[in-house]
Amino acid sequence: EFAAITLKDIDQLANSSFPLCMRHLFYKLREDHHLKHRGRMQLGLFLKGVGLKLDDALAFWRTEFSQKVGNDRFDKEYAYSIRHNYGKEGKRTDYTPYSCQKIISSTASVGDHHGCPYRHFSEESLRAALAQTGVGGRALDDVIDKVKHHHYQLACTMTFEAIHSTPCDTGINHPNQYFTESQKLLA
Ligand code: SF4
Repeated sequence: EFAAITLKDIDQLANSSFPLCMRHLFYKLREDHHLKHRGRMQLGLFLKGVGLKLDDALAFWRTEFSQKVGNDRFDKEYAYSIRHNYGKEGKRTDYTPYSCQKIISSTASVGDHHGCPYRHFSEESLRAALAQTGVGGRALDDVIDKVKHHHYQLACTMTFEAIHSTPCDTGINHPNQYFTESQKLLA
């Protein structure tokens, strides 16, 4: 496992090593200063999985949410569920980050940002999201082709390979694994 990630590195890591599903949630949160419950769960557990400590997680979510709802409401309505994700509240279950399979099979409707972009985005939105990661040309068309055949994890693996210019023989089956493989190459 990798050393805990800290708040000062988080933007750079989101840009370099988050898979598309988490990149999308991360940038939407930065943009809207808000995410719905299922988006908070998906991103929050991923961040826990990459080693963001509880205090940093609380600071991270507070920075965004307080701009929308204020610090008081953040503390009253949202902080609990973040501590809960870390097993500090309720039944003290230690929740594990979601796998690709779980994310791909989740239902997402308009206005939701959780889910897997390969599965839940329109082709147009997916092309735009991929272009932002620097994937273009032939590689982009190959990814879209996999999506059309419902091979979402393969599409994600091919994106990984295009971004990192290296084969990923194991394939992608978990967002946290994507992150770890990426950091192995970049860190
Ligand atoms: Fe995220 Fe998995 Fe979808 Fe890739 S295939 S975007 S890691 S859910």
